[in-house]
Amino acid sequence: MARIVQKYGGTSVGTVERIKHVANRIAESFTQGNDLVIVVSAMGKSTDTLVEMAQALTENPNKREMDMLLTTGEQVTIALLTMALLERGIDAISYTGWQAGIETDTQHGNAQIQDINTTKIEAALHQNQVVIVAGFQGISQDSQITTLGRGGSDTTAVALAAALQAKRCEIYTDVTGVFTTDPRFVKAARKLHSISYDEMLEMAHLGAGVLHPRAVEFAKNYDVPLVVASSMVEEEGTIIEEVVSVEKGLVVRGIAFENDVTKVSVVGLPNEMNTLARLFSTLSRHFINVDIIVQNETDSEHVTISFTVTQSTLTDTISALEKAQMELNYENIEYESGLAKVSIVGSGMVSNPGVAAQMFDVLANEAISIKMVSTSEIKVSTVISEDDMVIAVEALHEAFQLAEEVAHEVL
Ligand code: ADP
Ligand code: ASP
Ligand code: MG
Repeated sequence: MARIVQKYGGTSVGTVERIKHVANRIAESFTQGNDLVIVVSAMGKSTDTLVEMAQALTENPNKREMDMLLTTGEQVTIALLTMALLERGIDAISYTGWQAGIETDTQHGNAQIQDINTTKIEAALHQNQVVIVAGFQGISQDSQITTLGRGGSDTTAVALAAALQAKRCEIYTDVTGVFTTDPRFVKAARKLHSISYDEMLEMAHLGAGVLHPRAVEFAKNYDVPLVVASSMVEEEGTIIEEVVSVEKGLVVRGIAFENDVTKVSVVGLPNEMNTLARLFSTLSRHFINVDIIVQNETDSEHVTISFTVTQSTLTDTISALEKAQMELNYENIEYESGLAKVSIVGSGMVSNPGVAAQMFDVLANEAISIKMVSTSEIKVSTVISEDDMVIAVEALHEAFQLAEEVAHEVL
């Protein structure tokens, strides 16, 4: 039949009962004649528990040891799921990331997959075995165990699908597909039949946790058809593919949001050509990811540069800036925590200049003040107070009529 990669997330394998259920689903697909490679996450919230244990020991856990610790979570699941399959008479074998040939760079905690040596998996498939691979982990060029960043099992699955030239990659999770916005927060959220790689990529980058952004990048770059569906409810999921259909008249397809945003302002920098470059190369030397950037001229000689970072990197950001005070020559640093980023996403925005204005209008009507804005061809992001986040998302969801099912138009 077909070569398929399936991925089951933490909730889907959260208990032994759920692992049995997953084993039954795999057995069914296998007996239909499919060649299966299965990627799994750690059970339930066990990665969070491991993180908490490390943090109870030290404020700044060693990054190599953190990866050594976190990869144990996925290792538990692969062994249990393989046993459940063997119990059902299905020949299966489990592989950790390094056994599966997943080669990464050396950045512990946020490693990128560089290559996949599929020899072992191909050999097992050739022997008609179901291959169960630990998600979220790999091995670096210097033989260290690495992890791909939280939520990274999605990326393992899509990268394997690309390397194995699978027919598709199926991501099974605790929702029935990709919704117009997070259904856990907005009751009116609606499941999308399909969404383009580009729209999904923006949604994922902007906080829609349903897919790891790098998984979408792999799917787009290697043309892997990607399906998101429920592991528990038998219902058609969402297909993520190159643009094939658009919902008639809908400019905005989805709303993504994330909290724990902090705005940092570096005040009184010299108003010179290379100020921006100096500031951001300082931050990048310290591996600090910066999001929205705004520059304000305070007088002819000074500028204030504001940018956002995640709350968890605030301490590192301040310390990097303080160390570079002499070189950067600023007056002081200010910051504001407790912020959120709310973004509207849709390919149709390219040709609709009024969309941003409409978004600002909706927020103004809710008396929500916008602290920062950033736009691209297919998204508009606003930074607002975290307290207003859900109200903003609900108001935008309604204003852009996302709850309403519209006719599908095939281009
Ligand atoms: P898994 O453990 O299966 O990887 P995740 O928790 O990582 O599951 O991702 C699924 C969750 O993503 C859902 O429970 C949902 O709350 C959240 N989510 C955020 N945005 C969206 C969206 N637009 N559509 C669907 N789910 C979303
Ligand atoms: N177990 C990891 C996490 O919780 C990876 C994943 O589930 O995708 O982030
Ligand atoms: Mg996930």
